Amino acid sequence: MKLYLYTLGLLTTLLGLGCQPQGSATVDERPLVVATVTMVHDLVLEVGGDRVRAEGLMGPGVDPHTYKPKITDSALLEEAKAVFYCGLHLEGKMQESIEQLATRRAGVHAVTSGIPEEKLLQPQEEFEGHHDPHVWGDPELWKETVKVVVKGLSEIDPEGASYYEERGREYEKELLELKKWALKRVEEVPEDKRLLVTSHDAFFYFGRGFGFEVRGLQGVSTVSEAGLKDRAELVKFIKERGIKAIFPETSVNPKAIAAVAAEAGVTASHEELFSDAMGMPGDVVELHGESYDRGTYVGMVKHNVNSIVDGLK
Ligand SMILES: [Zn+2]
Repeated sequence: MKLYLYTLGLLTTLLGLGCQPQGSATVDERPLVVATVTMVHDLVLEVGGDRVRAEGLMGPGVDPHTYKPKITDSALLEEAKAVFYCGLHLEGKMQESIEQLATRRAGVHAVTSGIPEEKLLQPQEEFEGHHDPHVWGDPELWKETVKVVVKGLSEIDPEGASYYEERGREYEKELLELKKWALKRVEEVPEDKRLLVTSHDAFFYFGRGFGFEVRGLQGVSTVSEAGLKDRAELVKFIKERGIKAIFPETSVNPKAIAAVAAEAGVTASHEELFSDAMGMPGDVVELHGESYDRGTYVGMVKHNVNSIVDGLK
């Protein structure tokens, strides 16, 4: 149902391109703002509230590293008053077309441009010398992207500037609270058990932010398959360090990590982690006395932290 509504929303937007029936009362005159991945879409919703019409190009479960733009994407990008993307080469091939768009028009923003370079992890040789783009792994770092959205929305809607600033400030506070909450949960895992093994290298910022040693079966990008040597090394690492559980991710095929788990004789967690995409909007779960929507960034982090802590402690 949620997916249906999501698609319907996208369809309505497309049909709205100049063919709205005369006299219709349903025309949405709010500025269209387009985001690439779900985490950036959520950021636009948090800051933009009901003053903007926010659309996301890549839905839940979509891997941005390998995403091939759809024909409808370019129509949305052309129509948008502002475009927000992650940047740092997360969006694989799509980054090039977005950068080209930015040379032709204003209002195109990489949200990671708000993060000071010294806070980024060192450039990765196997990721063509680029920085690791998975910055949302640490809510305190992700907080640095809020101001980019506040500024970008204020440029297309100056009358809403104070509204965006206020919402941005509130959201920054919420992200810091989230970090505190997560640090507290992590304390439940003994220090020598803070070892996180997942499908690909999407959790280095998480590891730095929460004191975990992190290993992925595939590299920072999912474009290249993991070699047999890496796999054997990973199995050895899991066995040697006595890791209880390893984690598949929602946007990566779980077969390879399940095979590693079987070989190492450990559990592949039935809780898949949200690495490069959030859950379905409205997927509310209740756990440990609180409820959260896994289709939001806050819910994504809570799901991941709860799954990791409960799986490893
Ligand atoms: Zn990734």
